[in-house]
Amino acid sequence: MKITSQRITVVGTPWRELVFLELMTDTGLTGTSEVRMVSRTEPLIACLEETAPRHVIGTDPFDVERLSWNIQRAEYDRPGEISQSALACFEVACWDLMGQSLGVPVWKLLGGKFHARVPAYANGWYQAERRPEIIAGLAKKVVEKGYRALKLDPFGHAAAELSAAERRHAISIVAAVREAVGQDIQLMLEMHGRFTPSTAAGVAKLLEPFDPEWLEEPTPPENPLAYRSVRNATHLPIATGERAHAMEDIRGFIETGMVDIVQVDLTHFGGFLAMKRLAGWADAYSLPMAPHNVCGPVGTMANLHFAVCTPNYKVLEHFNDFADSWTHDLVDHSPRIDPADGCFVAPERPGLGLHLNHDVCAQHPRTGGRIKLFDKGWEQRQG
Ligand SMILES: [Mg+2]
Repeated sequence: MKITSQRITVVGTPWRELVFLELMTDTGLTGTSEVRMVSRTEPLIACLEETAPRHVIGTDPFDVERLSWNIQRAEYDRPGEISQSALACFEVACWDLMGQSLGVPVWKLLGGKFHARVPAYANGWYQAERRPEIIAGLAKKVVEKGYRALKLDPFGHAAAELSAAERRHAISIVAAVREAVGQDIQLMLEMHGRFTPSTAAGVAKLLEPFDPEWLEEPTPPENPLAYRSVRNATHLPIATGERAHAMEDIRGFIETGMVDIVQVDLTHFGGFLAMKRLAGWADAYSLPMAPHNVCGPVGTMANLHFAVCTPNYKVLEHFNDFADSWTHDLVDHSPRIDPADGCFVAPERPGLGLHLNHDVCAQHPRTGGRIKLFDKGWEQRQG
């Protein structure tokens, strides 16, 4: 089997653009993948177009180690956000092709079924005014849909520090949500790298009574030693990694013991093989993986395959039941949770097990949408 061409399709939503890649082959099979770039759709497209003729077109999709080495090393630049996302696009589509050609789901080629059911947590559900009673009402609706876990950034557009009033307001939102969902629902708290170490440490201490499942990116994500204040202030688990793109970006957090839950994003980290290596490395430190996922249905499906075959997998992030729920219609078999227990079930179709519906994609052209975490009202995700 040889890859003969690629097709790039971008779907716009008010706050994100979803980039889909299809790799066509001389066998007639098409492999599909997806990346949602944070704010860099154009550079990703340029990287895909520049790199494919050198390292993808004309190659065998089974040769993913060679593909990864060529893009990470032969190109001689350092693996970064754009190049690792482009690599993930190619690599995931190759695994889709392998699975289809062998008639098995991707997870069967990467370790087999370890988790028959994969717990999910909801995100994108609090697109509303930042009032405790409003957010708490929406949290109840998430639980009514079957989710047993949900994530919230209660800090508005805060940057660096919080006034006493802002701190009280954020805590009141968390308190209302915990009260609304009860003690047995996992509540993940997102900080989006907003704070100075001392501000994050102070807030972390105040959040302990609400029993959050984790605190995410308490300070900007480049410097593990900046996490030390939070680590010393609280027993609460710290999650980070969504802005790591290569092993060296996350190494300092793992080796200094500053991360409890590894959140590296499959679609920004080079794809399945890199994530399996990272999962093995994290496991040597007894750390679970909870990969970041803001993708539409294709990237979510790729994450689901990784979850099924990875022992130290904790929970899968999912936006598409709340933000832009029409994105389910972009493919023929979108992953959906079972409302009975809030879990995804291991998919059984060959490859990733889905294909794009180009008619639906064409109904949602590019928007330039991006997330603006430091603008007032960003939570409403209106672009
Ligand atoms: Mg995050």
